[in-house]
Amino acid sequence: MTNLEYDIQFLPGVGPKRAELLKTELNIHTIDDLLNFLPFRYIDRSKFYTVRELEPAMTSVQLKGYITGMTTEGEGHKKRLKAQFSDGTGSVTLVWFSNVQWVVNSLKPGVEYVVFGRITEFKAQYSISHPEIEEFAKFSEKNNGFVGVYPSTEKIKNAGISGKVFRTMVESAFKKLNTEKILETLPAYVLEEFALLNLHETLTTLHMPNDLSKISRAQFRIKFEELFWVQLAFAFRRKEHKAFAHGFVFHRANDKLLKQFYKQHLPFSLTGAQVRVMGEIRADVESGKHMNRLIQGDVGSGKTLIAVLAMLMAVDNGHQACLMAPTEILAQQHFQSLTTLLADLPIRIELLTGSTKKKQRTAIHEGLQNGAIHILVGTHALLEDVVQFRNLGLCVIDEQHRFGVAQRARLWKKNSNAPHILVMTATPIPRTLAMTLYGDLDVSVIDELPPGRKPIKTVLARDSQRLRVFGLMREQIALGRQVYVVYPLIKESERLDYKDLEDGYASITRAFPFPNYATTVVHGQMKAADKEFSMNEFVQGRAHIMVATTVIEVGVNVPNATVMIIESAERFGLSQLHQLRGRVGRGGELSYCVLMASNKLSNDAQTRLETMVQSNDGFEIAEVDMKLRGPGDIEGTQQSGLPVNFKLANLAKDGQIVQLARNVAFRIIEQDPNLEHTENAILAKGLKQRQAAHISWRNIS
Ligand code: ADP
Ligand code: MG
Repeated sequence: MTNLEYDIQFLPGVGPKRAELLKTELNIHTIDDLLNFLPFRYIDRSKFYTVRELEPAMTSVQLKGYITGMTTEGEGHKKRLKAQFSDGTGSVTLVWFSNVQWVVNSLKPGVEYVVFGRITEFKAQYSISHPEIEEFAKFSEKNNGFVGVYPSTEKIKNAGISGKVFRTMVESAFKKLNTEKILETLPAYVLEEFALLNLHETLTTLHMPNDLSKISRAQFRIKFEELFWVQLAFAFRRKEHKAFAHGFVFHRANDKLLKQFYKQHLPFSLTGAQVRVMGEIRADVESGKHMNRLIQGDVGSGKTLIAVLAMLMAVDNGHQACLMAPTEILAQQHFQSLTTLLADLPIRIELLTGSTKKKQRTAIHEGLQNGAIHILVGTHALLEDVVQFRNLGLCVIDEQHRFGVAQRARLWKKNSNAPHILVMTATPIPRTLAMTLYGDLDVSVIDELPPGRKPIKTVLARDSQRLRVFGLMREQIALGRQVYVVYPLIKESERLDYKDLEDGYASITRAFPFPNYATTVVHGQMKAADKEFSMNEFVQGRAHIMVATTVIEVGVNVPNATVMIIESAERFGLSQLHQLRGRVGRGGELSYCVLMASNKLSNDAQTRLETMVQSNDGFEIAEVDMKLRGPGDIEGTQQSGLPVNFKLANLAKDGQIVQLARNVAFRIIEQDPNLEHTENAILAKGLKQRQAAHISWRNIS
């Protein structure tokens, strides 16, 4: 056994109780785990403030002075200690709620102490609860400037495992290691090429730093490595995919329905970006390789049309195609627009969702198996094993980010050869996130909107301006347009949200009474048939106003709608707001988006709403969204099962490192596809370990 595998329990000052907590809370079992548990920021401990300099806005401060008095209050576990601490310019109160007797016994008058902690102010008196405190003489002996702040949890803090305790544990861990080195995980030539610190030096620096520039170098090494393994897995996976997955070939010469559709049924010509993307798809499916492509495009950029054209290509070549949507409503919409668009072509299209009746379901299963059905539109229902195709050649996944990786994998198995896969995102996602989530997919970007689109005018409004908002609604309805009013719904089960929706519906129908105005309502708790009926009222133009929850968020296409009113807009995320706004501005008319918000907004909410007012660009909005929320909270990333929350790397800030890591990883796999070169043995081993710990990349398309 090496010292790296040494159980932390036996480090001085740890013991079985703390060890247990460190294991369950932070997954730290061994010295190796402990040394790989990294501070996420650093504090300059060479800097001392005086009490007179303190400002309420300061958070953590370090002071130097003497204990001038102590009082204890309460009894038993309610007992607390208050100590006066003075440095000649003023005094602060130090407070302890636990270990009181021990602290009382150890603090000595006349000894100079260093105190470090978070200050709070009450009636011009500052106090620090559970400060880190130690004798100045001992402190200055070992202090060399910066100390790390470790991630922690409530339980860890309550057990008294403070930052200081962490630092002491790490020190003893390094002592225990003695001359043993932390094993390097990257090849020597990579370290050399990018002047990276080796792992031992990196971890030593991060735990026991002495200067800021070295900390940055060490952090860079860790960030690079975290991102590198993700990209190496993608590169490896992509190579395997290219080698093993043969794709069905769709020949241009077979274009029949496609040509007919272009000539007779396409009411407009493709945008330049659509033409380019079609070219990219065409190149994939003609080549005999298996297409695995992501289409990124802003809301309303015409992704659906791309899907239709690609599916026609499949059908022209004797294959079936399917289109999978994340919700029932969306699947219905797609089904309707497909049947309308392709009405005159000799194609059978069917819809399969969770609410398809048994009898019809059986008929669909049959039609798929004997090839009578050419295109199937559906929800998750079409992933079920009972759904078997005769010859599925293409699967389009719309609004992919709601699907998990495992679900993508199930599509692979729907034919002897994997069907081509086309993934479409609902809204743009930042480039770095795309590289990390979809790193094994080829990416096409539709960066152009159909001509004649006017930018949507977005305004922020308060409750006091509601009459003006009603005025806008009346004006637009008088022009023959339609209006959406959307309420937030955090969870489908939240009563309160439904009450908001119902109240809203009531006040709208009061302000816009029948029969002059028709208002329809749609939400997730309605029966499918009712939902469809209400939806249709609006789609067919019989209803002027649709009051809805976010069920209409994705995909719904009513070009005549020109006003989107979003109630309690501060409760929505940015990409959701952008997606909702994308429901209007789909025709040639000037459209409006009104963000109704309360007067008191958090900083983040303010930024979100201002971003919406200022920008119509989905790619720009996606970047802001990721900066605000962090990549881990971007919709869909958790379901993806891929790591987007790294220890140090931050996809919102470290875009250049993502790109570098990707370049290096792909270059390595290109030069040594099976990682057989001696200098890459370390990578083969690391990849294997990581793959075992995560998902089987081979099963993901
Ligand atoms: P999204 O990318 O959000 O899925 P859609 O595919 O729903 O966008 O397209 C939005 C609207 O733009 C639809 O009404 C569609 O018919 C229309 N559209 C798509 N491509 C073009 C084009 N090249 N010219 C004009 N209108 C187009
Ligand atoms: Mg769409």
